[in-house]
Amino acid sequence: MKLPITGGCLCGKIRYEISAKPVNTANCHCRTCQKAVGAAYFPAFFVPASALTITGDYKEFASIAASGNTMYRGFCPECGTSLFGRNSKFTNIRPVSAATLDDPSIYNPEKDMWVADAQPWDVMNPELPKFVGNPWK
Ligand SMILES: [Zn+2]
Ligand SMILES: [Zn+2]
Repeated sequence: MKLPITGGCLCGKIRYEISAKPVNTANCHCRTCQKAVGAAYFPAFFVPASALTITGDYKEFASIAASGNTMYRGFCPECGTSLFGRNSKFTNIRPVSAATLDDPSIYNPEKDMWVADAQPWDVMNPELPKFVGNPWK
């Protein structure tokens, strides 16, 4: 995987750069992810917090995640793209939406999480390990 990894929102106002490889990758099917990104799941590219550099004035929306932790979801106030998050418990790691990468094809999900919340029309890769909730306690 070529570094740095870059990405941004639909309108281009918010850009980010990631200087390290992801530490985990997972499709999150939780209900709050569904609402926040307007899709069946959030393709989470988990990167070290210190490796993520963001440019542009993004906004954050805080809500209680299925885990009970507070999730701060960063989005572009101009175009509404949901880009990345901050979890109140896992402060060293930040989930970035793989769909917002400049080259989303580098994303290789390793697992499905919060499958208990998945919709009946959600299609998952049967070969990936499935976790009812959060795989990391
Ligand atoms: Zn934007
Ligand atoms: Zn989620």
